[in-house]
Amino acid sequence: METQAIAILPDISIPLDLIHRREQFHGTSVNDCVHGDLILSRGRVVGMRPSAAAQTAPRLLFPALTEPHCHLDKCHTISRMPHSGGDLLAAIEAQMRDKAYWSESDIRTRAQRGLDEAIAAGCHTLRSHVDWGHEATPPTAWHVLLELAQESALTLQLSPLAGIDQMADPTFAATVARVVPDGHALGAFVLGHTQIPTGLRNMFALAADHGLPLDFHVDETLDPKINGLEAIADMALETRFDGPILCGHAVSLATCTPDEFRRIADKLARARITIVALPTTNLYLQGRDPHTPGLRGLTPLDALAAAGVPILLGSDNVRDAFCPVGRHDPLYALELAILAGHLDPPLGRWLRTITTDARTALGMNPTPIDGAHLNDLRIADASDLSHLISGAAHRPATDLLKEHLQ
Ligand SMILES: [Zn+2]
Repeated sequence: METQAIAILPDISIPLDLIHRREQFHGTSVNDCVHGDLILSRGRVVGMRPSAAAQTAPRLLFPALTEPHCHLDKCHTISRMPHSGGDLLAAIEAQMRDKAYWSESDIRTRAQRGLDEAIAAGCHTLRSHVDWGHEATPPTAWHVLLELAQESALTLQLSPLAGIDQMADPTFAATVARVVPDGHALGAFVLGHTQIPTGLRNMFALAADHGLPLDFHVDETLDPKINGLEAIADMALETRFDGPILCGHAVSLATCTPDEFRRIADKLARARITIVALPTTNLYLQGRDPHTPGLRGLTPLDALAAAGVPILLGSDNVRDAFCPVGRHDPLYALELAILAGHLDPPLGRWLRTITTDARTALGMNPTPIDGAHLNDLRIADASDLSHLISGAAHRPATDLLKEHLQ
């Protein structure tokens, strides 16, 4: 679309937490937003001036969403396992049996459905994990998803998901790292394994050599004795790894002692590790023993944020053995986390978990609203962030220009 050098779009609200240079936004503060006439320069947001009139229709501008953690290889398989259920181990076994159906076309059809959902939900960026097998060579799903990454309208990052004990074998780890192209991540799951330090050392060295971010599934359990997270933080501090590190789950942080929490959170902050909580899968699989529902299986999000650890939210499993319901919609993950994780208003800081902070953790420019092109923004029929997160309709922000020029 051709864009004018300067354009004024009247009557818009934007979340204060999604602006870096607030001094250029002269509107009326309304709760966690500022309302006024938006100033664009060649399609980019450069400021705001006060509106002559009060807001007539709710219109809230926000960054396109980032889905930092999901599983496109597994999604939409639940119809083939109507009697699944149980805890994490039961889900792993059920999903393993389902892999008998994972032909190239089956994976492509399901993953494309997941991508279409994410795009419809307003995502511009998405990271999917891909289950690795016993062999170091990539599974069929890796090839299929790499093809989809080249074709997709959104930025699709992939991260291999092998056990950290497999990564302790240097040949296995090097073979996996070699097939991860630039723009993707090197990943593994860590859950009480026996060779965690060796596996981590191999991964940190390979990620540094190949210039790849790191991504872990770690401590997906309420057992307070399981603490792979601190081993990851120790390795990051020891090696001074300077790429992004994203750790998913970190559930056992919810059951460790306050002293342990403070010690681990301090290391996470110093190592600049980001934690992504996955509320759907965590609530479904964790806390089933002895009577369900027991404890919530969520990492302490608010306390981590207060300790200076960046936090994100992800959709994780969507309609598979690990979570029989769900959707690829980061705003839904945020809505659920507000309830399950006690994330209090003002809500703008939590919107960062699926926008700016999520992009940073994935090794991308954060794209706050100021300076962003309308192509990278969304507009919602919402008066504030509570309204947006509670399901308000939204669409590409480029529609604003079309409406304005009509
Ligand atoms: Zn996951």
